[in-house]
Amino acid sequence: MAKYIFITGGVVSSLGKGLTAASIGRLLISRGLSIRMQKLDPYLNVDPGTMSPFQHGEVFVTDDGAETDLDLGHYERFTGQRTSRKSNYTAGRIYWEVLKKERRGDYLGGTVQMIPHITDEIKSGIRALDEEGVDVILCEIGGTVGDIEGLTFLEAIRQIGLEEGRENVMYIHLTYVPYITAAGEVKTKPSQQSVAKLREIGIVPDALICRTEVDLAPEVCRKLSLFCNVPEHAVIVEKDVAHNVYELPVVLSEQGLDDLIMVHLRLARPPAKLDEWRAMLERLIHPQGRVKIGVVGKYSELQDAYKSIFEAIEHGGLAHAHAVDIVKIPAEELEDGAAAERVTSVDGLLVPGGFGGRGVEGKIAAIQLAREHQIPFLGICLGLQCAVVEFARNVCGLAGAQSTEFDKETPHPVICLMEEQEHVKDMGGSMRLGASVAHLTPGSRVARTYGTERIEERHRHRYEVNPGYHAALQEKGLVLSGKDKGGHLVECIEIEAHPWFVATQFHPEFKSQPLEPHPLFRDFIGAALARREEK
Ligand code: GLN
Repeated sequence: MAKYIFITGGVVSSLGKGLTAASIGRLLISRGLSIRMQKLDPYLNVDPGTMSPFQHGEVFVTDDGAETDLDLGHYERFTGQRTSRKSNYTAGRIYWEVLKKERRGDYLGGTVQMIPHITDEIKSGIRALDEEGVDVILCEIGGTVGDIEGLTFLEAIRQIGLEEGRENVMYIHLTYVPYITAAGEVKTKPSQQSVAKLREIGIVPDALICRTEVDLAPEVCRKLSLFCNVPEHAVIVEKDVAHNVYELPVVLSEQGLDDLIMVHLRLARPPAKLDEWRAMLERLIHPQGRVKIGVVGKYSELQDAYKSIFEAIEHGGLAHAHAVDIVKIPAEELEDGAAAERVTSVDGLLVPGGFGGRGVEGKIAAIQLAREHQIPFLGICLGLQCAVVEFARNVCGLAGAQSTEFDKETPHPVICLMEEQEHVKDMGGSMRLGASVAHLTPGSRVARTYGTERIEERHRHRYEVNPGYHAALQEKGLVLSGKDKGGHLVECIEIEAHPWFVATQFHPEFKSQPLEPHPLFRDFIGAALARREEK
């Protein structure tokens, strides 16, 4: 039977709870434990798939096609392990299940209540991860202690502590210790209050991880220990990392967090093996050079909207021991033909996925510049669709070519809905989602990059390259170098007479990891470096 670690957050959101959980996951794996990670989100959306990136950042897609919280991306990148539909539950999904059971009559005339019906459903969602051979389930509770909607989740994890026995369950609370400039000191009161809020519900944290921008003096840690009722050696300081979030596992391990976990959960394992991780950090922190990659997006002002893309780009640099400077280029600013030098001055150009017409003409303009100026280009999902539109208009001479997502009346619907999407009415969970197999043309750039002709990558889209235009596009030199199992849907395109021009209908960024950079990002950055050296 698995043991449990629950991670809660206090005081404010955006403390990096997901990164902290992911780092703990890395430490446990480095100690030879088999783990599963999970995020519980107390909001009422059934999943984040319908939420705007303005609200929620990126939607992370799992192999089994779940649209999930971006923290699952951190989990996968830090642990090298795949997550699944079972790794993310929202309150909406929990309530949905309970209400379906109520309608079926499963509760046999009983009154359906928060406790025990909602809490039981939450517990069964957590325990669903207790599979054969799993040592520890690491479960992060979204939001902040004290939120009304989080109460049932806290109640559920309290009950698990009671049911499994305290030596099998560990509660870790992430809190914020602010530095008040005017007073010239750090304040522990918010942490005291958020721990008090936890204790009110019956959870006594076994460790306190303190997010802070400054060093915490021993007397501050002593005070936190005393007022929060946590042993002094279990007060861990998580100061902002100096260079990169991937330092976090090392920072936590150096303060003994993983030892503490071993002792509390009665797990005897050798110390964490972090050699490979440290070697990766070394390359990250001391790069041999830099390369400049432009990302033409719709949400350029947002940190989280392209999370996995930015990470995968960094991993691509890591593969060449180079740091990447990401230049965020707002797509709309390229629409009137101005600002072209913003595109031509980068070493490589990436156009990521997206929905809706805003900025699409800017993306198309950027792709034309990349194609004509021989700038290495990687297009992803909408990025592929824009590349096809650009090629159709400017190389095949199909004036007015467009995706029917943006113009239903276009004379040349080079991107369109396929039969199976035509009649879809529901917005949630109804796209082509999750991993599927693609076959790559032998000898193509993508086949050489992957080193194989059969790949599995994750999808999240409705529209496809219109099969009616495949021949016209190919005739003019667009190579359709990857197709789905059936051979009808385009998965990859490339242009041979270009230093590096590749686009994919799937999302390679979801599978990239710091210890295993994705081959497409590796070679894209490699091509960008070659261009830089030429310059
Ligand atoms: N909006 C496009 C589609 O639905 C592209 C989706 C994406 O880039 N993820 O097909």
